Amino acid sequence: MQKDTFWNARKDSCNVGEISIKRIVDLEHVPFNPSLVFPDAKPEIIKKLSLQVGLQHFSDNNLDLLLSFHSFLIQTQKYNILVDTCCGNEKERPTRPFWHQRNGPFLDNLATVGLAASDIDFVLCTHLHADHVGWNTQLINGKWVPTFPNAQYLFSQKEFEYWKEEDKKNPMEPIMYGSYIDSVLPVIKSGQALLIESSHQIENNIQLESAYGHTPGNVIVNVRSERDQAILCGDVIHHPLQLLKPKWSTNFCFDPDLSRQTRLDLLNRCADTQTAILPAHFHSPDYGYIGRNGDTFHLIK
Ligand SMILES: [Zn+2]
Repeated sequence: MQKDTFWNARKDSCNVGEISIKRIVDLEHVPFNPSLVFPDAKPEIIKKLSLQVGLQHFSDNNLDLLLSFHSFLIQTQKYNILVDTCCGNEKERPTRPFWHQRNGPFLDNLATVGLAASDIDFVLCTHLHADHVGWNTQLINGKWVPTFPNAQYLFSQKEFEYWKEEDKKNPMEPIMYGSYIDSVLPVIKSGQALLIESSHQIENNIQLESAYGHTPGNVIVNVRSERDQAILCGDVIHHPLQLLKPKWSTNFCFDPDLSRQTRLDLLNRCADTQTAILPAHFHSPDYGYIGRNGDTFHLIK
């Protein structure tokens, strides 16, 4: 594998040794006002950064940030592992219009790579925010049931316990736009959830790692081969502009200081190595190796 071909744009996938990683899209090009995402985002700064980062990551007219919502499907000799399950269909999210009462083709997109929902062996949520748990469940006969009937769902115990306590504090106020109730609890009740340590190993070359800060129990996924490594880093880095502003945490981060440190540690560790990053919200084909330039970073294509 050459550095400049880590992500195959045409196939929307990559290989790490024998393991393949494919992107399964829920929705793309969703505009977010920069100041909603980053407390330090001023229009003049965003305008300048957008020229450096690449205009494809910003909307045409008003320089909103564009985010993608997709799963990564890891396929090994033994298992189909779905990492993060995006926004989902038919969820009530009135304060998030792009996520509200959707009827999107996520399962059809999964079918285009030859898989049915019943083929998924593991579902892993890097954290339990609404845009990472949506397809955990689907609405069948008025009830939220697990979408992937044969999967074991892996939730970080530390993450789950935190949200469970938050939910108890104010049961009348649904947390995380209601996603704890419609996309997490039905999986727990079905018996398909396994609460795991942050260092859980799914198989030899696929190991989780704690990456706290964005949420209390946030994890990332290391996929290894003899020569290469990829890190599915979830929301440790949200948008490509954070490669230039790695100290910028988002307004959605539970602990912005810890989130900043986690992001800096990840980027410093990956810079100028054969370790690629696959963030949860970058658009294709911008996944791959990282280079460093002083205090800033960039994708190597
Ligand atoms: Zn997210």
